Amino acid sequence: MDFRITEEQELMVQAIADAMTQEDLEPYFQECDREHKHPTKWWDLLKDLGLFSLFLPEEACGDDGEPGGGEGAVTMFLVMEALGRYGGPIYLFWDHVKADALLENGTKEQIDKFMPLFFKGNGAYAQGFSEPSAGTELSSNTIQTTYTRRNGKVYINGHKHFISGAQDNDYCLTLAKNSENPEQLTLWFVPTNVPNCKKSPMEKMGLNMENVNDIWFDDVEIDEKDMFSFEGNGLMATSKGFDYERLIDAFNAYGQALCAYEDACRYANQRVVKGQEIGRLQLIQNHIMEMTMRIEAMRNMLLHYAWNKDNGCLTRAEASIAKQYCSESANIIADHALQVMGGIGYCGSRVSRIYRDLRITRISGGTGEIQTVIASRQVLKKYK
Ligand SMILES: Cc1cc2nc3c(=O)[nH]c(=O)nc-3n(C[C@H](O)[C@H](O)[C@H](O)COP(=O)(O)OP(=O)(O)OC[C@H]3O[C@@H](n4cnc5c(N)ncnc54)[C@H](O)[C@@H]3O)c2cc1C
Repeated sequence: MDFRITEEQELMVQAIADAMTQEDLEPYFQECDREHKHPTKWWDLLKDLGLFSLFLPEEACGDDGEPGGGEGAVTMFLVMEALGRYGGPIYLFWDHVKADALLENGTKEQIDKFMPLFFKGNGAYAQGFSEPSAGTELSSNTIQTTYTRRNGKVYINGHKHFISGAQDNDYCLTLAKNSENPEQLTLWFVPTNVPNCKKSPMEKMGLNMENVNDIWFDDVEIDEKDMFSFEGNGLMATSKGFDYERLIDAFNAYGQALCAYEDACRYANQRVVKGQEIGRLQLIQNHIMEMTMRIEAMRNMLLHYAWNKDNGCLTRAEASIAKQYCSESANIIADHALQVMGGIGYCGSRVSRIYRDLRITRISGGTGEIQTVIASRQVLKKYK
């Protein structure tokens, strides 16, 4: 295993560093965070860097016939690291992960409709699995949203909960059960900007540049051709991409934690108390060491697992270990970083934003408890 990065990767990381530092983006991020708005200016910058197409499969095709860049997980890690270290809201940058499942399960019409949107970085569709009664457990026992066939059409009824990005998307890929055969869970592309659908943003403690929504479907009419994958395959088609999503969740946690860590280290070298930099105090060095060990461990683990992903041997347990370790470690790092920075860390620094934004990494995309269950089951199996 060789972790040296290629010349192209090095150039790309440098291009990102240049773009992120050309102007001080932090006041803009603060404004977007305060006003709960999408960071359009930063998004345009990602578009100019070609980052939206870079990770799409080579077989994918944009409007102008442009193919996807086909870059894998190691490059994705390097991009998230490079963007995260400058305080970019990298939790927004993962939509392209849906493209693999779209290519694998979508009809030609669905692929032609949604794939070009991924190339542009426009939200293609939200993903609606969770409901008030269904979060960790997605099953026909917990899912209440239904689809019903009537007069040659299909009608969706139900309430989806916590749906990311739904304000920016015209469609939601919705998990619903057959009202006539409740064991059948199926995915449908359902329009959300129609009169029978209501969506409403939810209050939350962070992720202010993203919207998370309740969606109510009241007999929303769709067609048979809006089915994704095949009938009854909703859970399988859903869970297939979960491993890579979990790895990307881990990249996201690491990238944000790196920013908090580096800010705290710089601050420890500058802040003078009783005539000396606080970095000379052993108790502050303890914080620095706790953070450094976790940053190093995360980076090594993530490069290793990213390499596994690119070589087709990432296991389900590894994806869960990465998500669990990195989301816990990132939260611990943000806490140490904030402590090193004292009052200024809490009041107005980007570390306070990162502290808020990181908390969700232990919950969404599968909670820490579930990652523990998945990974430990696999580990124990090995020793039977
Ligand atoms: C900001 C945000 C964005 C989200 N985006 C989306 C989205 O775009 N689309 C979507 O479909 N969903 C989304 N979700 C939902 C997210 O996936 C769920 O919140 C998550 O899966 C947990 O479900 P829950 O909140 O219902 O918690 P619950 O499932 O009710 O869990 C509550 C607690 O019980 C624990 N628990 C549950 N089952 C077990 C078990 N078997 N063993 C041990 N412990 C267990 C959990 O770990 C947790 O600690 C989002 C959530 C948030 C907060």
